[in-house]
Amino acid sequence: MNDLNVDVVVVGGGPAGTITAKYAAMDGADVLLIEKRQEIGTPVRCGEGIAGRWLEEVGIKPDDRWLTHRVKGAKIISPDGSKLHIDEKIAGKEVGMVIERDVFDKNLARDAAKSGANIMVKTSAISLLKEGNKVVGVRAKHLGDEFDINANIVVGADGFESQIGRWGKIDTTLKPKDISVCLQYRMIDIKPDPDYCEFILEDVQKGGYLWIFPKGDDEANVGVGFQLNKITDKKMVRSYLDDFIKRHPDYSRGKVIEIVAGAVPVSAPIDKTVGDGILLVGDAARQVNPMTGGGIANACICGKIAGEVIGEAQKAQDFSCEFLNKYEKRWRKRLEDSLYLNYLTREKLVSTSNETINKIVRSLAEVQIEQLSTLEIIKVISKKHPELIEELSDLI
Ligand SMILES: Cc1cc2nc3c(=O)[nH]c(=O)nc-3n(C[C@H](O)[C@H](O)[C@H](O)COP(=O)(O)OP(=O)(O)OC[C@H]3O[C@@H](n4cnc5c(N)ncnc54)[C@H](O)[C@@H]3O)c2cc1C
Repeated sequence: MNDLNVDVVVVGGGPAGTITAKYAAMDGADVLLIEKRQEIGTPVRCGEGIAGRWLEEVGIKPDDRWLTHRVKGAKIISPDGSKLHIDEKIAGKEVGMVIERDVFDKNLARDAAKSGANIMVKTSAISLLKEGNKVVGVRAKHLGDEFDINANIVVGADGFESQIGRWGKIDTTLKPKDISVCLQYRMIDIKPDPDYCEFILEDVQKGGYLWIFPKGDDEANVGVGFQLNKITDKKMVRSYLDDFIKRHPDYSRGKVIEIVAGAVPVSAPIDKTVGDGILLVGDAARQVNPMTGGGIANACICGKIAGEVIGEAQKAQDFSCEFLNKYEKRWRKRLEDSLYLNYLTREKLVSTSNETINKIVRSLAEVQIEQLSTLEIIKVISKKHPELIEELSDLI
């Protein structure tokens, strides 16, 4: 295979990569997206929950091919079984729709291609091409052939296990406590609540939660995620999920038709996501909501910003770190505060007793909260349980 010359090479065909490719191509850049797997979107490593309200911002139209189920909102269940129902409008970026993620990802790839981006599957980036500290492309491997892809900008959209960041000397290292290890079963012949995505806070001290995202009346994704540093033996996550299912008659007679195992970065925002000729986006840039582990929305929002800045860089013919800092500034303005707040909230939850969580969930369930903001929650708690305010003071 001959070496290739393009304006932009995007490494990774998940939502972050395809949206970046789409917006960069729309702005006239010659874009090549490479994906190491043989098929975009599979295997699925996702709970498949998203909200509808950010889709328009990134130019995605809901489509029956991937939008298979809608829910009214989220149901938070505390350790004592208290339930808090939250309307879809305020429930965050992961609640409202349950999708077929493989079809969703393929659709995003189709949009990128329609905008002019080229795509090569079964093509891995195996190293970066550099001139001094400047990144000038990637070395790639496709069906046994190695070749260079020379580019003005390399986009690392290569997910949780991102190597592009490391090779480009951008520090994306995660502490064990900032990695959520997840296991999920797609189950059929069960009885989920089809109207709500459920978040079950049984053991938040392990740094995670169980989720049930319904895909219809008798089907759901049932999963669990825990912080890596809280995992004491190899079988712990699986035993936990199996035990939960066994204890619940609505699920115990169900059948598992798919097993998904994966990890999500749940760190605070990292210091830097750009360099000379390189930028990171999505899970590779650790842009996941650290509280829920949801990352599709942020990958798409940051992908759009990245694509637009790449278009501007292409016009200015300036691919320096200084120019690409525009991306850094814009995505941080849009998301950084909420990422930090969610990170702090998760840190707090891990050290909160079940008794306190029960009190918080019960207090919120008794009133109709208009907004799921920390301020709103604190207001409610200060009325019902003023004694808890000191405990939560570092979040205020
Ligand atoms: C079990 C689980 C459940 C989840 N549930 C939800 C949920 O319900 N809602 C939600 O919003 N988020 C969820 N997430 C998180 C969500 O899946 C990610 O945040 C999202 O996929 C990030 O998109 P991305 O494009 O950054 O990365 P990815 O989707 O991971 O895409 C990265 C791509 O890069 C490719 N790649 C990697 N290295 C190379 C290379 N060297 N060369 C070429 N290609 C490469 C990979 O094959 C992959 O296709 C979940 C994650 C897990 C693990």
